[in-house]
Formats: sequence, C-alpha cells, structure tokens
Amino acid sequence: MPVVKDNFDRPVYSMRIQVNTTCNFKCFFCHMEGTGVHSEFMSPEEIEKVVETAHRWGVNKIKLTGGEPTLRRDIVDIIRRIRKHVTGNISMTTNGIMLSRIAMDLKEAGLDRVNISLHSMDRDKFEFITGVDAIDTVIEGIRAAHTAGLSPVKVNFVVLKGLNVDQIPGMMELAARENFVLQLIEFETTRELENSEEFRKYHMPLDDIERGMADRSVRIEFNDLHHRPKYLVPVDGKFAEVEFVKPMRNAEFCSNCTRIRLTSTGMLKPCLMRSDNYRNMISPLRNGESQDKLDSIFISSVKDREPYWKKEDEDEIKNQIFRISKR
Ligand code: SAM
Repeated sequence: MPVVKDNFDRPVYSMRIQVNTTCNFKCFFCHMEGTGVHSEFMSPEEIEKVVETAHRWGVNKIKLTGGEPTLRRDIVDIIRRIRKHVTGNISMTTNGIMLSRIAMDLKEAGLDRVNISLHSMDRDKFEFITGVDAIDTVIEGIRAAHTAGLSPVKVNFVVLKGLNVDQIPGMMELAARENFVLQLIEFETTRELENSEEFRKYHMPLDDIERGMADRSVRIEFNDLHHRPKYLVPVDGKFAEVEFVKPMRNAEFCSNCTRIRLTSTGMLKPCLMRSDNYRNMISPLRNGESQDKLDSIFISSVKDREPYWKKEDEDEIKNQIFRISKR
C-alpha cells in the first residue's frame, strides 16, 4: 500500500470522519470539528467509497466523530462498511449517551474502541458545560463500552480554567477505578479566536500540570499521532493512565500530524484549524467519476496539508512572556 506524504514530509495514515453535525449536547467550547452545521450528510455507501480511496493511499486508521455520531441511525452500517477496507484501528469519539444501548452492536460491526467525552464529575458543572443533566448516563456508557470490549476506553476531558481544573485528581481516581485512559485536552482555537473573551477566560496551558504528572509517573510512553505523551501514575493503590493533548501553538504537535479529515458533507479537510482549503470529494463521487479522479483529489488534499502552528508561533508566545516579565 503506497503512503502519500505532504510537502512537509508528513505521511497520512489516519482519517477523522465527521459523520454528522447533529448533537444532543451543547458544549459551549465546541470547535465543531472546524465546520458549520448541516442537515444532510454523506450516506454509508459514500463514506465507504471515500475510505476505500483513502486506504489505497495509506490510510488505515479511522476516527468517527460528529456532531454526535451515535445519533445516526445507520452508524452500525457505516462501521461495517468501513471495516471491509481498514485493518487498523477504527475508533469513535462520542458523548457516551447512547452507549448502554448500542455498544455491543458497534463492537460487532467492527468498532475497536471509543473516546467518551466527560468534562466534569460535578453534576452542575457538567450541565453548565453541556447543557444537559446526563452525567450518570455517560458513566453507564463508559461501563457499557468496557462490557462490549470497546477498549482501551479513553475519556476526553477538555481542561477549562476556573471550571474543571480542580477535578483532575478526582478524574484520575475515577480513571483508575473504572479502568479508562484519561485524556487531558488543552482547549484549542484558531489564531482569529485566540483573543475572544471565552478563550481568554477558559484557556489554560497544560505544561505545569504535565510536569507534575511526569514527576509522579512510573512510566511515560509516546503515541504515533502527534507524538502525544501518556503517563502511568499511581493512584490509591492502582494506576491511572493519563494522556496529554496540547495542540495550541505547538509546532511539534503539528509536525507529527498524520491525519486528514472528511466533513459530514463530503469535503476533504486537511486541518481542523483551516476551512479555506477543502477539496470536494462528494460531487465527483455522485457524478460517477473514475477511481483515478477520486485518487487524484485525495492525493491533492494530502499535498494541501501544512502545519498550522510553526516554530515561529511558539517563539512569539515565549517573546510575549519575556516582554511581560521584563516590565
Ligand atoms: N459529540 C462527540 C463528543 O462529545 O465527543 C464528538 C464530537 S466532539 C467535537 C469531539 C471531541 O472534541 C470531544 O472530546 C470534545 O470535547 C473535543 N473538543 C471540542 N471542542 C474542543 C476545543 N475547543 N478544544 C479542545 N477539544 C475540543
């Protein structure tokens, strides 16, 4: 299987597919996978065709996202179709609310594992963040995912200054008890929105938290996507596995990105942070264009990829800190 690289020598092995934009949560910080809201989405057959094409050029790992992917009634069919082409990992990011009902069906269709979003252990804060009182259902979803064998189960926790940072120790205890990997995610946004009131209020760099975690850990591993670190930390006679996702102004994160995206309406999207370089996959597909044409669109989209954050972005922040400390 040939692997296509972009012009920055980054191979593309994985695809993040947004299967819808419909969601039953209203998380106030949601980046919506960098797209707008739509009401019509690619069919299972169309998603399968794009995956088949991407697989011809090295993609062998799929992440399903949304909206909320489990709200699609045909989600099991989508997974079954993708599974025919991909031997690598197929995972899904979900709010977990449907898992106690459908986890087994997802597993049988070929889903390997799930990331479940849980941004607070506190009922009121959970509701403040998501707009829904559903914390118990999400915890049930975590357990259902385990029972179905959708493991390792990962829990996505977007760290929000003044809102949920104090819950990290409790989340680590929960992770050790419920046997999930805790993924601490930095609140991220684009250059244009970095100065928005919301971002300034809730964004928190994770470096200090990570340093503390490293001191307490007995083992550190790095995964292949974005070179993310994972720490094994003793908690209450057990261990919590804690991963860090630190995308903001992080050139290393971008230089290790091996992912391309597919929007719910069938556009190839090279980067979460950019909406100005989509390539239309769905129209040629619906017009019955040849496999050669689909291949060339996919390859062109890979070649469009550029690291969003570069070394000079990191330096800019360091210079700002330096300027402030000199005052
Ligand atoms: N509805 C599903 C869910 O709740 O997981 C899938 C869609 S959601 C956009 C996918 C993941 O992106 C979630 O874990 C979510 O918390 C994370 N996310 C959304 N907005 C974010 C932001 N601004 N910064 C960091 N992570 C974010």
